[in-house]
Amino acid sequence: MAVRAKFWRTDKYLTIFTGLWIFFKAFIPGVRAGLPYLRRFLNWFFMRKITANRVYPVSAGPVDNGVVIADDSGEILAVEPREWHDPASLESYSGVLAPGFVNTHCHLELSHMKGLVHTGTGLIPFITQVVTQRNLPAEVIADAIVRAEQEMLDAGIVALGDISNAPDTFGVKAKGRMRYYTFVELFDFLQDAGAEKAFADWKAVYDQAPLPPGSAKALTPHAPYSVSPALFARINAANPATGITVSIHNQETQPESELFQQGSGDFYAFYSRFNISLEQFRPTGQPSVHYALQHLNPANRTLFVHNTLSTPDDIRAAQAWSPHTYWATCPNANLYIENKLPNYAHFLGTGARVTIGTDSLSSNWQLSVLEEIKTIARYQSYVPFETLLRWATLHGAQALGFDDTLGSLEPGKTPGVLLLEGLGPNAKLNDRTSVRRLI
Ligand SMILES: [Zn+2]
Repeated sequence: MAVRAKFWRTDKYLTIFTGLWIFFKAFIPGVRAGLPYLRRFLNWFFMRKITANRVYPVSAGPVDNGVVIADDSGEILAVEPREWHDPASLESYSGVLAPGFVNTHCHLELSHMKGLVHTGTGLIPFITQVVTQRNLPAEVIADAIVRAEQEMLDAGIVALGDISNAPDTFGVKAKGRMRYYTFVELFDFLQDAGAEKAFADWKAVYDQAPLPPGSAKALTPHAPYSVSPALFARINAANPATGITVSIHNQETQPESELFQQGSGDFYAFYSRFNISLEQFRPTGQPSVHYALQHLNPANRTLFVHNTLSTPDDIRAAQAWSPHTYWATCPNANLYIENKLPNYAHFLGTGARVTIGTDSLSSNWQLSVLEEIKTIARYQSYVPFETLLRWATLHGAQALGFDDTLGSLEPGKTPGVLLLEGLGPNAKLNDRTSVRRLI
């Protein structure tokens, strides 16, 4: 006993040290190696099995009485028939299940302008009102942005393509509550001489745009009627040559067509009010989209926004120009500003990849992708529900390059899961249709 006691006294520290060493060397890595198995077990334990009358995975055909199985992080594990499952293990709803919505066009920084701009005035008076009324106190702007983001999350939106002229939204975007594609937007009122200054000003904004995980940003031209060839060249040189999305407002109003096709119309008067001369501008004699095609980079994804006046020939020309062409339609904003909608038959007939945008609260009553597709269904009811859902989800995710995680209920993705309630017979959208976010 005496020897053992002596050993303990003299080698106490050595023993404790050796014990700790064995613990850290063997036990901790053992636990670490076991973590994935533990996580998988917990996933199985906490996973959700959600069922409704019909599931629209979007990447595949609808499944009547389907079950969406997702783990605790929202990752889709499978979409299966209900017969395979014990009814007691299911969360059951009346309605249809769909992936989260992708909103490809908004100006979140204009959220404080809700209700300030008159409806039905046409684009040029609309722009004039926005330009002259957009400056309110910073805290009013910031508060409206926070509320607008929450409105979109509540309406089932999981990703946003957002135009930024200023850094006002960057604090909200840095939190990464949804996936953001920030389009820092440039224009020089078609003045080659103004291109360098415009570029320098907005490059500084671009450099500040945050990139939390899953987000992206690009420099983007405003519209054919506001970007000179020199500024297009500057944007192309600064953006990556491939793999990004660029957005451009396109064919939104008749004066835009007149400017390019006839060299006349209201844009001349609009610019002269701001002491800007269009003397050096040469009309192309073609619809404005051709001017954009001439100056954009076809190797990147391009999102043409509005397209209210686009003809089948215009759409075909853009699609022949690049395989990475997408179309954002913002029907409620078109009704708000111009009281006119695109003819969606033109897009169906040309196989165009259409996406849905809400535009901003300066030109819309709410920020809801569901309300946008309800408007299309109301005025052009021949567009099938499945097509509208694809526009609202997968096409939007592809346009923003976010389809690795979003846009469809496919195993491995985390697209969010929405419950649409109040659809009519044959999945008809109507005034009573509403959305709830389940995941
Ligand atoms: Zn816009």
